[in-house]
Amino acid sequence: MSARWRNWARTESSVPATEVFPRTAEQIIAAVDRARDTGHTVKPIGASHSFTAIGATDGIRLELRRMRGLVSADPAGGRVTLWAGTHLWELPAILEPLGLALANMGDIDKQTITGATQTGTHGTGLRLGGLSTAVVGATLVTGTGELLTVSETENAELLPAVALGLGALGVLVTVTIQCVPRYLLHAVETPDSLDAVLDTFEERNRAADHFEFYWFPHTEGARTKTNTRIPVDPELGAAGSGARPLGAVSRYVDEELMNNTMLGAVVGFQRWLPASTPRINRAVQTVSSARDYIDESHRVYVTNRRVHFREMEYALPLEAAPTALRELRELIERRKYRVSFPIEVRTAAADNLFLSTAHGRESGYIAVHRYWKDRDDDYFPEAEAVLAAHGGRPHWGKMHTLTADSLRERYPRFDDFVAVRDRFDPDRVFANPYLTRVLGE
Ligand SMILES: Cc1cc2nc3c(=O)[nH]c(=O)nc-3n(C[C@H](O)[C@H](O)[C@H](O)COP(=O)(O)OP(=O)(O)OC[C@H]3O[C@@H](n4cnc5c(N)ncnc54)[C@H](O)[C@@H]3O)c2cc1C
Repeated sequence: MSARWRNWARTESSVPATEVFPRTAEQIIAAVDRARDTGHTVKPIGASHSFTAIGATDGIRLELRRMRGLVSADPAGGRVTLWAGTHLWELPAILEPLGLALANMGDIDKQTITGATQTGTHGTGLRLGGLSTAVVGATLVTGTGELLTVSETENAELLPAVALGLGALGVLVTVTIQCVPRYLLHAVETPDSLDAVLDTFEERNRAADHFEFYWFPHTEGARTKTNTRIPVDPELGAAGSGARPLGAVSRYVDEELMNNTMLGAVVGFQRWLPASTPRINRAVQTVSSARDYIDESHRVYVTNRRVHFREMEYALPLEAAPTALRELRELIERRKYRVSFPIEVRTAAADNLFLSTAHGRESGYIAVHRYWKDRDDDYFPEAEAVLAAHGGRPHWGKMHTLTADSLRERYPRFDDFVAVRDRFDPDRVFANPYLTRVLGE
């Protein structure tokens, strides 16, 4: 038996029978063959940043840390093929020299490119899809030990399943990503009234390249973030194209001191004295300052999260998001929940991936959080009932309780995905209890 595995949020753990650290596709095929011979399952893992048990296994765990970096690049077409274990934080060093960047990102870069895309990780922006929509090709080892290429020209009909496959279809060896020319983001962060933001939510999203907001429960205010894309002129570089980064001290104060050191102390205190939560949230809301700066896109998207939390996030039809947030506010007040972490609201364009949370509709994402040490109460289950009632689809990598039956109703191409699973993994070599719950046996 190998060492116990635990995810970042400390919500899940498991003990694999054995761990394998492949360097090549052949070694992955050998691991799948061995699993089939011994009756084990196989589970590749990325950076273990999913809040669900999607990465848990008592079978053979594949750690892909030896399969990282660039396989090949097509700078003219703006595409790179990466080894599946490459972390998002490794990408700027690969992409910048090629004059490229990811089209969009979430708020951290700790994930691997495959872990992020297999669960439908997204950022914000109504004109942009989640990270999986950038996947234009992959090679994978299926549950029968076959090495298969899926791209726009080979097995193209399988791409909408493989690009966001929950790790249920095979072990990805490489992923090809469509990038965009390198760009800066002009970030404007301002406090605003929650009601004003909710009243104009769609308008603000349509007007901006990227819009999101945070609401601290028990306060009237929201913190908005609006990012505008600025191309980098290859001749002039970032500085000549208008970069105006935050100074090192200001960045340290806002992102390290406020977001980590202070936040850790504050939520720790609130855990011991929940009654203080509303007052503290109002104080935090008041001291958070406005910011205006221009920097490389990845430096604007990404923050460093050292305070551990639990998270549930649902994608709703865009127009339902403001109503659902008002219902969450009413729920928190009525049930007197003491919630120290903010609620985050983002958007994404519609796409056509079979299991994308934004499949076929523009989406508003609402994410609720709790400090990881806070005691469990009914806040998440009751918030989930609100979000699910609006036709919500849960993020595959974040906490939720839905099962295959209710997920099937929410995804028009659910059975098409299951058909690909039946073909790629007929013996369920990649199954685990989470996949059985959300996809069926
Ligand atoms: C602090 C924090 C912030 C976050 N911010 C965001 C955000 O802004 N937006 C958002 O949408 N999500 C966000 N998430 C969720 C996160 O992006 C997803 O859960 C993502 O899947 C984590 O990537 P990972 O590399 O850790 O994958 P893991 O959790 O390790 O694995 C996820 C899945 O990918 C599969 N997988 C990994 N490698 C392979 C492979 N080679 N082949 C096949 N399958 C594979 C695993 O088997 C598993 O099923 C955040 C999570 C945390 C903890």
